Amino acid sequence: MNITDPFLDRDGDKLREECGIFGVLGARDAAAMAALGLHALQHRGQEAVGITSFDGQEFYSRRGIGHVAANFSSGQAIAELPGMMAAGHVRYSTTGGSGLRNVQPLFADLASGGFAIAHNGNISNAMFLKRDLVQKGAIFQSTSDTEVIIHLVATSRYPTLLDRFVDALRLVEGAYSLICMTPEGMIACRDPLGIRPLVMGKLGDAVVFASETVALDVVGAELLREVEPGELVQVSLDGAISSHRPFGNEAGRPCIFEHVYFSRPDSIMGGRSVYQVRKAIGAELAIEAPADADLVIPVPDSGVPAALGYAQQSGLPFELGIIRSHYVGRTFIQPSDGARNLDVKRKHNANRALVEGKRIVLIDDSIVRGTTSLKIVQMMRDAGASEVHMRIASPPTEHSCFYGVDTPERSKLLAARMDVEAMAKFIQADSLAFVSIDGLYRAVGEAQRNAARPQYCDACFSGDYPTRLTDLAEREDQGQLALPVEKVA
Ligand code: SF4
Repeated sequence: MNITDPFLDRDGDKLREECGIFGVLGARDAAAMAALGLHALQHRGQEAVGITSFDGQEFYSRRGIGHVAANFSSGQAIAELPGMMAAGHVRYSTTGGSGLRNVQPLFADLASGGFAIAHNGNISNAMFLKRDLVQKGAIFQSTSDTEVIIHLVATSRYPTLLDRFVDALRLVEGAYSLICMTPEGMIACRDPLGIRPLVMGKLGDAVVFASETVALDVVGAELLREVEPGELVQVSLDGAISSHRPFGNEAGRPCIFEHVYFSRPDSIMGGRSVYQVRKAIGAELAIEAPADADLVIPVPDSGVPAALGYAQQSGLPFELGIIRSHYVGRTFIQPSDGARNLDVKRKHNANRALVEGKRIVLIDDSIVRGTTSLKIVQMMRDAGASEVHMRIASPPTEHSCFYGVDTPERSKLLAARMDVEAMAKFIQADSLAFVSIDGLYRAVGEAQRNAARPQYCDACFSGDYPTRLTDLAEREDQGQLALPVEKVA
């Protein structure tokens, strides 16, 4: 969820990234650094936050509901987390639901010592694995899919912790970027396809891991590189780094939606500036779907870079035709009559002096249910726009995500229910167009999408899921169509 866009998320009408993770080893103020890093990742999850630290003897943990600043801005909170190693997690729950027991990092005392784990992603066979573990006597403390990994590590018969960890991951399907802490040090890894991001940096002698480079920037760390798909990086307490490739060297398929929306525009993802990629998507959109119009207007904030790219490519002026309030609280009682879109206007308002009498191109990053787009188009018309042409900086979102992103059921996705023409009617736009999937691939630097083996995960657009979806298949076998994201238990 994008914290800067409360209106746009109001109806659940955005895909929401579920988690951000951060870890540091070798810093005197590790917990404070983790809090700062997590603050930079707050857009990846606002429901809960946790940090676990290790001082060479003991693990310490503090977890809370709400934002990082609300839980970790006091000296006392940080003082409760001593040690030179810390890992943290911001969360927006889907798998497992909300509640403190599901807030990560999760921690367990294993035979080998303490084990803390922070996970970004979603294990698509978690229910299948859990059922087997429970039958063998495992007792789960949370309803999070991540706890399955702890039980698999605990019950593995391999001699070393690293081997037990790899043994556990071999059974896991889906998407995972993980930061784990043990009494020997830190382990960071990505699933074999690298679906969710994870980068590695350095600050003096400290090693830092984070979901996005923006978190490295904020703590002053230098980006070393991405943790590669299928790579497991082990850092010992004395700072020795070793890289392991237990799953071979399969090419990755990272989530292409990170470029479209999830990541902060000031992050570097896959070696590319997210901001520049978004501008390039806008430029592709202008080439593929020009509009006879007077102005290009972004839907703030996520549509801004693509709108700039569209305007520069098309030669049309870029203007801020929608102004966002920075002082939006949660809830107001709505006046009953004549209040159409009042709550919308409290948060975003049309810049009438600019829009009136103009033919406008509105740029947004995606359409999920379509309810938000409808309201924005209405807002532009109410402000006097003579034509509203909607352009979307991603292909139609036709499929649900099962890799750590909150999406509505497929039946609620507008693009799964309608073709583009019908969608344009639904949102009451004069025209509607989406960037093509090849246009999106060109924007991220590829010549085109490799249909035989796509370079990215683009399943929410293509339906081409890069892993098995065991839990979903089981549910469908049982005649249930609900997504496997609510409860593992
Ligand atoms: S399905 Fe879409 S949102 Fe989910 S990982 Fe793949 S590209 Fe990203």
